[in-house]
Amino acid sequence: MSVSLLNKCNSIIHVGDACFGEGQFSLIAGPCAIETPRQMHHIGRVLKENNISVMRGGLYKPRSAPQAFQGLGAAGIDLIKEIKETYNLSFITEAVDKDSLNVIFEVADVIQIGARNAQNYELLKVAGACGKPVMLKRGFAMTYAEWISSAEYLVYHGCHDIILCERGMRTATEVTRFSLDVGAISYAQTDVPVPIFADPSHPAGARNLVLPLSYSAVGAGADGLIVEISDCPDDALCDGMQGITSEELGTLKRTSETIYQSIHA
Ligand code: PEP
Ligand code: MN
Repeated sequence: MSVSLLNKCNSIIHVGDACFGEGQFSLIAGPCAIETPRQMHHIGRVLKENNISVMRGGLYKPRSAPQAFQGLGAAGIDLIKEIKETYNLSFITEAVDKDSLNVIFEVADVIQIGARNAQNYELLKVAGACGKPVMLKRGFAMTYAEWISSAEYLVYHGCHDIILCERGMRTATEVTRFSLDVGAISYAQTDVPVPIFADPSHPAGARNLVLPLSYSAVGAGADGLIVEISDCPDDALCDGMQGITSEELGTLKRTSETIYQSIHA
């Protein structure tokens, strides 16, 4: 283990009914972006059916194109409250700056820092000091050491509940959106005590690649996955092509649990 500020962090993180890094596989699922009440109720029911207690979903979407849907922002807070209450769920959503952190604070049980902001040090300072668990995605051009340094910003500013999430690197790949660095998942498990998650959706970029990438991440030692699902993939305003169906979610959960148990036996 390296001499890292992360050694001060908790290896088990309680989030509502979920317990990340406890020696059992954890699954977070939800839409890329929060769009409509109908979409969110559908997905809330799917999570309940699959016994999943933590939902993901973005109110603030950092998009490559300025014309693209940027997320509902503050207008979506009441919808998150309603979904959390109706389905008894915890929620993870992304902060992109200090203002958005203040807006999501009341509904977010875990703050997500996305790949594009993983080296936004001013954001890391305020997220680290906010008093909630933080999931730090790895920036898609960040070395492992840079990722750990960004996580150390969170610790330095007071956060001891950190989840690292590998979500794929930019490489010479043409057939996937990013290259999932499964070696870094295995390495991180030997290097730092915090829960290590993987996001198979963004590196896949296509629905049929999400399950195989999930299994490779769990096989490499990931404690959990955060995955995008879609009620209506062809109409989604963001990342519809990689949203898996409710049937696929059930398969993913069962198979990941089996892989997890076999490598942790
Ligand atoms: C997301 O989770 O929807 C997202 C944008 O992820 P990333 O920051 O890893 O690209
Ligand atoms: Mn997305």
